[in-house]
This record gives sequence, C-alpha cells and structure tokens, in this order.
Amino acid sequence: MSTSISKKIACAVCQRATIVPLAIPPDNSGSVDLDLRPASSYRNTMHLWLQECPVCRYVHSSLDVLLAGAADIVYTAEYRLMTARETQLGLAGRFMRHAYLLRDQPFEAGWAMLRAAWVGDDLGRDDLARYCRRVCDNHWVGLPYGDDEQSMLLRAVSVDVLRRARCFFEAGRLAEELLAMQTVTPVLQRILNFQRQLISDFNFAAFTWDAALAAFPGYTEVHAPQKKQA
Ligand SMILES: [Zn+2]
Repeated sequence: MSTSISKKIACAVCQRATIVPLAIPPDNSGSVDLDLRPASSYRNTMHLWLQECPVCRYVHSSLDVLLAGAADIVYTAEYRLMTARETQLGLAGRFMRHAYLLRDQPFEAGWAMLRAAWVGDDLGRDDLARYCRRVCDNHWVGLPYGDDEQSMLLRAVSVDVLRRARCFFEAGRLAEELLAMQTVTPVLQRILNFQRQLISDFNFAAFTWDAALAAFPGYTEVHAPQKKQA
C-alpha cells in the first residue's frame, strides 16, 4: 500500500501556493490489461496521479510545471464548464481536463483520456469509458507510427482501445494490419490473435495480457512497462 506524502508548491498558472500530494512511483505488480490498465492495487492511487490547483483548477502531474498554452486555456469558458460538469464525472473529469490542456500533444492527450476511461471502468460507467476510449483513439490515430517495437506496442494497445469502445471493424482492421507487418513480435502475434477472437465475438470486456498469452502456447508473464506520467 502506497503512502501519500504532501508538499507545498506554487501553481505554474496562477502562482498560488498549495499543498499537493507527491507523485508516487508506478507499481508494476499484477498483470496489466490489454490497454495497459494497471492492476487495481495501483489504480487505487489514481486520485494521486494528477495534482490540481484549487484556485485556477490547472491540473498536471507536477503542478509547478507549466504546459504550453495552459495559462490561457484554464480561464476559458469551455474549461470552466468542464470543471463545473465534474461532479457527474468524478475523477475521470480531472483526467479529461488534463487531456484538454494537452490537446497539442496528442500522444499524451490520448493517455490522459485512456486513464479517464479506466476511472469510468471502475465506476461502472460504461458510457463514460466508451466515450473516453473513442476520444483517446482520435488523438492517437494520426500519430506518425514506425515499425519499431514501441510503436507496435502502442498500436496493439490501440486495437484494444477500439475493441473496448466497440469499434469492432476498426479494431479488426488494425489487428490485421499489424499481424501483416514484418516486425510483429511473437508475443504481439499471440496478443493480436487473441484480439481477433474477441473481435469476431463482439466481445468488449477487459482482459489481461497474462490471460491473453495463457490462451496460446509459449506463455510468458508480462507486467506493465514503465510509462512517463503526463
Ligand atoms: Zn492555479
């Protein structure tokens, strides 16, 4: 169990000093889901992943770090409306506002929306989780992917994002595209073949990497890769 430790820092937007929890290191225990959603022991700390200024409502993993353009965005009517709606969205709203602040950084904005989807999953809010995954895909779909291992992993995650958003046609098309690539690894082949089965069954449930790999010979346990917190 992680322990929350606080410190006082100045908000990068309004400069107001505020007490925030320190960032906590990732906990890689337990198998991640196919969209890299961590196990529940680490998800239980999601309320500590972003720091929020109580005055201007700026959010960032380090509140004293300024995102380009954020100083203008947090005072817009649209951002204010997002903060007002948050009582209906719970913690997901904070991740969605972070994605909004990151809108010029689609890779990180997509991760913020996927984290909002994970909150929706835990709240049992399928509508919210599905919406957040669709927006996540909108951020990621135009990225300049290569055929290196990291790009292939991210695109395999995209297959799961699409499947869980019930975009089965798009998920299947991407899975086939990746399986046809020369650089697909044996592990990703097994994951993608598992995805093909789920997609053909119109199955949008969550599955772990361990469960997917166990369905095929040559099973290897996989834990969450280290990811940079946005
Ligand atoms: Zn502030």
